Amino acid sequence: MSASQIPAAAVATGDDVPTLLVKIFGKDRPGITAGLFDTLAAFAVDVIDIEQIVTRGRITLCALVTAPVGGGATEGGLRATVHSWAESMHLQTEIISGLGDNRPRGVGRSHVTVLGHPLTAESTAAIAARITDTGGNIDRIFRLAKYPVTAVEFAVSGTDTEKLRTTLATESAALGVDVAVVAAGLQRRAQRLVVMDVDSTLIQDEVIELFAAHAGCEAEVAEVTTRAMRGELDFEESLHERVALLAGLDASVVEKVRAEVRLTPGARTLIRTLKRLGFQVGVVSGGFTQVTDDLRERLGLDFASANTLEIVDGKLTGRVTGEIVDREGKARLLRRFAAEAGVPLAQTVAIGDGANDLDMLNAAGLGVAFNAKPLVREAAHTAVNVPFLDTVLYLLGVTREEVEAANTHE
Ligand SMILES: [Mg+2]
Repeated sequence: MSASQIPAAAVATGDDVPTLLVKIFGKDRPGITAGLFDTLAAFAVDVIDIEQIVTRGRITLCALVTAPVGGGATEGGLRATVHSWAESMHLQTEIISGLGDNRPRGVGRSHVTVLGHPLTAESTAAIAARITDTGGNIDRIFRLAKYPVTAVEFAVSGTDTEKLRTTLATESAALGVDVAVVAAGLQRRAQRLVVMDVDSTLIQDEVIELFAAHAGCEAEVAEVTTRAMRGELDFEESLHERVALLAGLDASVVEKVRAEVRLTPGARTLIRTLKRLGFQVGVVSGGFTQVTDDLRERLGLDFASANTLEIVDGKLTGRVTGEIVDREGKARLLRRFAAEAGVPLAQTVAIGDGANDLDMLNAAGLGVAFNAKPLVREAAHTAVNVPFLDTVLYLLGVTREEVEAANTHE
């Protein structure tokens, strides 16, 4: 069919074409959508847009259709028929005449995910106001999850993603809610690589402390940690000092430490769901391969890298072998894993809690500070401040329903 043969009604999205917005609201039950369109079908109108949502048993259905043309069908007739059908169904209805399709969405599109525990009206108002301040328009809002936190997503257009991210990061810290801003587009659905820190991120423990407890040198290890946090030692120096305290420890302790490791709530759900989405998942740790190799095996991870405790004649020597995984090392490994996974760096997500995760969080497409110290939180793209690792899925636009569906078909 050539363009000139396309019937007038088929090119109905022109700005000058009369259109009707039909809005239905009321108690939801089977047959409402079919009933409305069956009623409209008698007027031979075309559908330009439909949006429907059910909230606590109430349906809101909006249909944008062409106004009836010719054949004895009139707008007045359509209005009367739709109103009488709605009345018979105990539904409220509103029909608004106008021209053309919806106003096109502005350029610069982003997804803003808000995690609240709880999500208050006050924080919702503040987030919406800040979006408006950046010149952005909220086109859609929907709930991603109600468990373990309330997560809602705003589809925003008409403003720069980076600007929105900066504005909302400041606001979210003040409000005590977690907000992630990501650019909309196909890349959101593309293959991804998620790389996590281990200590206090994937697991609730600090592995060096578990070893120290067996060596009876917890206090000494803690003292080195404190000096490192004060900036008196860099990560590598503190690693060597702390590992030296473990010299002479029996290698059988490795098994005990592996058994003591406690996964962070939601860790299994996060990894299982990511794997089902076809994503690749890795860990990088300033801790030890003696633990991360076991985690890789148990959790089905694609990548794992850490420092290796040297063991000679069944005893820890107090030294580490191989390439040191420190702050720069973690970022380097993220890049290496991404190259091996065939995933562009922009498609990577890094999650971590410590200062030595910062380079990795900044190198990733999306860096998530997980229950991190203020310094790390402020420097990362986004922060999660609830102790559930699976909430990271909501930042990627995955809904709780999808999470549960992915986890019930074992
Ligand atoms: Mg950590």
